[in-house]
This record gives sequence, C-alpha cells and structure tokens, in this order.
Amino acid sequence: MSEILYEAPKTLEAAVALLAGAGGQARVLAGGTDLLIQMRAGRVVPGLLVDIKGIVEMTTIVAENGGFRFGAAASCMELVEHQAFAREWPGVTDAVKLIGSVQVKGRATVGGNLCNASPAADSVPALIAAGAVARIVGPGGTREARVEDIPAGPGRTTLADGEIVVSLFLPPRPARSGDAYLRFTPRTEMDIAVVGAGVNLTLDETGVCTHARVSLGAVAERALLVPEAAAALIGSKVDEGALGRLAAAASAACRPIADKRGTREFRVEVAGVLARRAAGIALDRARRKG
Ligand SMILES: Cc1cc2nc3c(=O)[nH]c(=O)nc-3n(C[C@H](O)[C@H](O)[C@H](O)COP(=O)(O)OP(=O)(O)OC[C@H]3O[C@@H](n4cnc5c(N)ncnc54)[C@H](O)[C@@H]3O)c2cc1C
Repeated sequence: MSEILYEAPKTLEAAVALLAGAGGQARVLAGGTDLLIQMRAGRVVPGLLVDIKGIVEMTTIVAENGGFRFGAAASCMELVEHQAFAREWPGVTDAVKLIGSVQVKGRATVGGNLCNASPAADSVPALIAAGAVARIVGPGGTREARVEDIPAGPGRTTLADGEIVVSLFLPPRPARSGDAYLRFTPRTEMDIAVVGAGVNLTLDETGVCTHARVSLGAVAERALLVPEAAAALIGSKVDEGALGRLAAAASAACRPIADKRGTREFRVEVAGVLARRAAGIALDRARRKG
C-alpha cells in the first residue's frame, strides 16, 4: 500500500495551498465517517489527507445578519446541541440528528454530508429547503453557491479541484416560518434514506403561505429542489387541496432508481406522502411562531 501523507493546517489559506500543491491527489478530511470507509474499501486512494477540523472559521456556529453561519467542519453533534439554531431551524436540526449514531455525529459534519454527494444524504434536502448558501474557497478565490447547486450525482460535486466548502449560511427567519425534514428508512435508525423530504414555509398574518421551498432526497441522482411542489403551497392556507397538489408535484419530480430498499413506484409514492407530512409539520411550527 502506498504512503498517505496527513496535514492538519490551522488556516484556510494553508489548507487551500496544500490542496493546490497536491496535483489532484489530496482529499479534504472532515469527520472521516464517509471517507475512511471509502479508503478502506480501496475506492478512494489519496496521496494526502488535509484535515480541516483545526481551522477555527470552519468549526464555529455564529449569528450573522439575522441568520446563522456554521462551519462546514463543525460536528453534527455541535449543531444539534446549539439551542438557538434548533429553535430557528428545527427541520434542519431534525435532519442532522438523523445522521448515524451519537458516536458518528460526534465526528461527522454537514460539510462532509454535502460534499460526499450521496443522493440520500439527510442534511441536504433540509438545507436546500432552508435556502442555505455555501461559502467556498479555492485556488480561484472565494465564491458562494446555493446548496442545491453543489451535488452533481452520486459521489460527484460541482466543486472545482482544490475547492473547500468553508461554511453554510442560513438566512434570517421571518415571523410565522417553519421547516421540517422527514425520511423513510426500512429500519428506524442507522440506515440511509429511501426517500427524504424537506419543506420550509412562511405564512402571513392571515395564515396564507407567502414563501415555500420543497426538496427531495434519494429520488434522483442528487437532492432536488422542487419549485412546482412549493408553488402548490404559495398563496394557499396550506389546506387539504394545496397539500394534495404538493404531494402530486413531489411525486412527479422523482426519477428514482430501484434497489433492495424500494422499487421506483414505491419511492415515487412515498415522496408525495413524506412531502405532504413534512409540510404539515412545517405548518404547525410556523403557526406556533406567529
Ligand atoms: C454508521 C454510519 C451511519 C451513517 N448514517 C447516516 C445517515 O443516517 N444519514 C446520512 O446522511 N449519512 C449517514 N452516514 C454517512 C456520514 O456519516 C455522513 O455523510 C457525514 O455527514 C459525512 O461527514 P464527514 O465529516 O465524516 O465527511 P468525510 O468522510 O470527512 O468527507 C466526506 C467527503 O466529503 C469531502 N469533504 C468533507 N468536507 C469537505 C469540505 N468542507 N469541503 C470540500 N470537501 C469536503 C471529503 O473529501 C470526502 O470526499 C453514516 C455513516 C456511518 C459510518
């Protein structure tokens, strides 16, 4: 087996320089809960691991411009234990809570969940529904990208060579906003989603939905933003009719694979059911924040 070098830079600049100097042979190491398994299986053979957990701005969770910015290398456990964040974004928090066991969450990161680019990654639909924006740094400088524009397909992202996701920004919450994430798995935990659905919505003072975003996981090659499903809610009181149209639009957006966890038909059906249930939970949460 060839030697693997390990570096733990303390600054972003140093991390970017290490990645740029490795000629495509380096991998970012966050929690390692996906990467180390892939290395053990021989599917990934890096020459250099660049551990980003020692970079302060990549591990902190801060209030910013009325919203939240959290480091892509903050552990899932730190995020779910952040009470102010959980109050504002209970759906995102529920999604992050689902990632593995307590032990896995102690190491795993949301940045890793996103950049591993599994179509079934639990935090990704919730982040897309939330309208999260990633800050990305690389040899070409700093740029921002919406979370839905980062995964490209199983194990593939739109990140350029040497780019690192530094942090994720979740926008300020208007009054009467709520979000929710639900997934279906054959087992109750420690399993990957057969379907995941994230919904985020805002109501006006009369209870009419003024803003919504809906996202689905595990029903296509990457997590999907489904504007047609959101459109079914906007302008409605999120009544039975609107929920029925949302479910139909969610099912129509699916282009799933069939595997041992479920057939295509099953995934299409469950996507509608879960999106509808998640919208119901988001609605209750929004009403309680009136
Ligand atoms: C027992 C077990 C149960 C699990 N259960 C679930 C589950 O229920 N739901 C779920 O979604 N996942 C689950 N996972 C998968 C995994 O834990 C998550 O995907 C986790 O969030 C990955 O984060 P990490 O920090 O460990 O990533 P790593 O393994 O460190 O990295 C993953 C990939 O992303 C790249 N990367 C990491 N961070 C960055 C960054 N900031 N910028 C650019 N590239 C980066 C790495 O180079 C690597 O290619 C489970 C894993 C295990 C072992």
